[in-house]
Amino acid sequence: MPAQILDGRALGAIIKDELKAKARKRAEELGWPPGLAIVRVGEEAASAVYIKQLLRVAAEIGVDAQLISLESDNTIDETLSTELSRLNEDAHIQGIIIQMPLPPHLSQQSAANAIASTKDVDGISPRSAGNLFLGLPSFVPSTSAAIMEALDRAGINPAGKRAVVVGRSNVVGKPLSFLLLQRNATVTICGRQTRSLGAITRLADILVAAAGQARLITAEMVKPGAAVIDVGINVKPEGGITGDVDFEGVKAVAGAITPVPGGIGLLTNLMVMKQVIEGER
Ligand code: NAD
Repeated sequence: MPAQILDGRALGAIIKDELKAKARKRAEELGWPPGLAIVRVGEEAASAVYIKQLLRVAAEIGVDAQLISLESDNTIDETLSTELSRLNEDAHIQGIIIQMPLPPHLSQQSAANAIASTKDVDGISPRSAGNLFLGLPSFVPSTSAAIMEALDRAGINPAGKRAVVVGRSNVVGKPLSFLLLQRNATVTICGRQTRSLGAITRLADILVAAAGQARLITAEMVKPGAAVIDVGINVKPEGGITGDVDFEGVKAVAGAITPVPGGIGLLTNLMVMKQVIEGER
């Protein structure tokens, strides 16, 4: 039987409606719409597209998002830290995102550290990461939140299942692995130097591909009936994007699969909004 397609568009529409209602309720409690500040340093084409999408989703849901563009000049260290302090104190701002990557001369870690932990809605600060590690409530990076949401909404309970996460970055693979662990999955984390990747992925009831390698995961690497979550976004030479999973081949083996485009990527921004609306952990 072909796999169930976990359609990010359909799921996103449902989540968006739920978030609109939650945003209205939160606005009543606060006395103003929940606020999100997106801080960008310098100009980068890729981030401009991402920010535009974020602003659009925020407006649709009822989150008051504002873009703060800072010039990457020789006073930027100080300007960024002053700006973050101001946003930390601003009662109308419930969440702060710093658009990464920052220009190379700025420390991503110092910037992440400068966000108040109560407003770290993309879970980038060491405190958020530490809470996640300890199994305490925390803001989490939005992509890992999107994957957990997709699994939950498809009725796939990680408890007792063997989960294999291919990719171990701080933004996707690692936080996701800890979320799966919190939900009592047996988790294996793979990286570039993992040997016999296919032998490991074939054991997975839940297989997450977050390596950034087009078609890394092929049908023979997948256990029949497994849930396969494709996080990869790889630009095709002919234009458009493709995931880390050979969708057509794997679809015939897996029990459930997310497409690219049209899968997890569509849920990521919504998870940022969810964390802005739900607020401090
Ligand atoms: P990254 O480059 O920081 O990390 C990639 C990870 O994959 C590394 O840990 C590396 O060791 C591992 N890896 C690479 N090749 C591998 C291989 N052949 N076998 C096993 N492991 C391998 O990337 P990232 O920021 O974690 O993003 C991963 C992918 O997810 C990228 O394609 C990125 O564009 C995409 N992404 C998607 C979303 C979304 O919302 N859908 C969000 C963030 C990132």
